[in-house]
Amino acid sequence: MKKIEEVLKDWEPVIGLEVHCELTKLETKMFCGCKLEFGAAPNTHTCPVCLGLPGALPVPNKAAIESIVLAGLATNCDIEKHTMFYRKGYMYPDMAKNFQTTQGPKAFCMRGHLDLDVDEKNINERYGVAELAPGETFENVTRTEDGYTAQVGITRIHMEEDAGKMIHVGGAEGRIEGATHSLVDYNRAGTPLIELVTEPDLRSPEEARLFMEKLRQIFLALNISDCSMEEGSIRADGNISLRRRGTTQLGTKTELKNINSFKSLHDGLLYEICRQAEVLEEGGVIYQETRHWDASKKRTIVMRTKETADDYRMFPDPDLAPYDLSDDFIERVRAKLPELPDQKVKRFQETWGLSAYDARHLVAHRVTANFFEACMATADAKLAKPLANLIINDLAAMANDGFDLAASPLTPARAVELVGLLASDAISSKQGKQVLAAVLDEDKDPAAIVEEKGMKQVSDTGALEAVIDQVLADNPDKVAAYKGGKTGLLGFFVGQCMKATRGQGNPKVINQMLAQKLNG
Ligand code: ADP
Ligand code: ZN
Ligand code: MG
Repeated sequence: MKKIEEVLKDWEPVIGLEVHCELTKLETKMFCGCKLEFGAAPNTHTCPVCLGLPGALPVPNKAAIESIVLAGLATNCDIEKHTMFYRKGYMYPDMAKNFQTTQGPKAFCMRGHLDLDVDEKNINERYGVAELAPGETFENVTRTEDGYTAQVGITRIHMEEDAGKMIHVGGAEGRIEGATHSLVDYNRAGTPLIELVTEPDLRSPEEARLFMEKLRQIFLALNISDCSMEEGSIRADGNISLRRRGTTQLGTKTELKNINSFKSLHDGLLYEICRQAEVLEEGGVIYQETRHWDASKKRTIVMRTKETADDYRMFPDPDLAPYDLSDDFIERVRAKLPELPDQKVKRFQETWGLSAYDARHLVAHRVTANFFEACMATADAKLAKPLANLIINDLAAMANDGFDLAASPLTPARAVELVGLLASDAISSKQGKQVLAAVLDEDKDPAAIVEEKGMKQVSDTGALEAVIDQVLADNPDKVAAYKGGKTGLLGFFVGQCMKATRGQGNPKVINQMLAQKLNG
């Protein structure tokens, strides 16, 4: 298969996401009073309603409606005041009712959007944006100083319910193939679920990943779900098609189902772009099919092919009256909106003078945003930038490897102390990295580590002058070469001085003093 850079020259990827999110923060299920609890003993949270027994009548959970309205308001949707619940025909043992209660053509939330801020390093994945000047727009994209912003349309967010869970016994890896029998646990049946559908406005795996990340951040801020990718309380289906550059008609899409990590979403879409390009370039056709991303084999495989539109025989549920939301209810929900990620980014910029890049990378994860704020509660304002650097460059990278910042020995107070030592030139940036490693390793204060390891940085010009003079005296040929125009040798002299001070000289000061002596 061709590399993605090659493919993107000729083809434009078109991506739309469908995101399911369980409202795990609620007490009870969508249409009955059964308790919501992950991991309880099988079939202990069931009743006639969620088991679909004859004569049982559903009653909508008002707190769930409040959650979906919050989600809609936070994603710039119009809230539909008059909607209905529908029955979607469905026959499988995990759904005892033989239908799923969901919403019809009109959902509680319609026509929203989110703005994605994409970094400069990903700019070439969006065709034609690199050539724009900051502020210029193209399709749904605006060029910014440090990348671009893409506005992604949200078609709708509707309310539905989850199914129960099947457990297949006897086959490999819990799969149905080869199983001797299957068990059903209805505890999850009737769990309130919201499904958000985007317009096909995304153009790269990175945009898809960012959308998912931002949406998760918003849902966490709203406190409507624990949004656990591992436990599947938030999961995405990625729809993707290709079209020739310069054409506007949509190609046939494939759908990657039940993606449960940001990396899988990105990598699965990337693979699918390259696979589809190969099929199309060889004169083949893309079938509208559901595919599964196999992260270990790094490829997608067909799950099922869609030949005709599924016929779910959707019709309004006669047991549930049309749902009317009052203006008063909507306004009461609006008043509960917390600070959202975009607002937090703005506040971080305004309060501490951070760049847009720093602010949005801090806010991208709740732990890093909270950690930064905890640091700034005691830190001097001028430490905001170096603290942001520490968190974004060192801590966030470690967090990707499963490092738990909130539970680590690096408390906000220690981070402030470390950054203070760096800012006052007491230690070099290289020593800073060693101190950070030691804090995490030995659970001690940065100042104590600096003391213990004798790491003090030498910034005193008197002490450094002798070292510098010695280095210059030892290398007369290089000094002559420098003066003859080989100014790149400055790095060599700095290196020699650092060696002579056993890494404790302040490289910034050494640099300045050397330049003065050599150019003077
Ligand atoms: P389906 O009927 O197959 O479920 P929908 O029209 O409901 O398809 O769209 C499902 C998702 O797929 C939406 O996010 C939509 O934006 C996206 N989508 C629709 N058509 C395409 C296409 N040709 N290429 C990529 N994504 C698409
Ligand atoms: Zn129940
Ligand atoms: Mg659909």
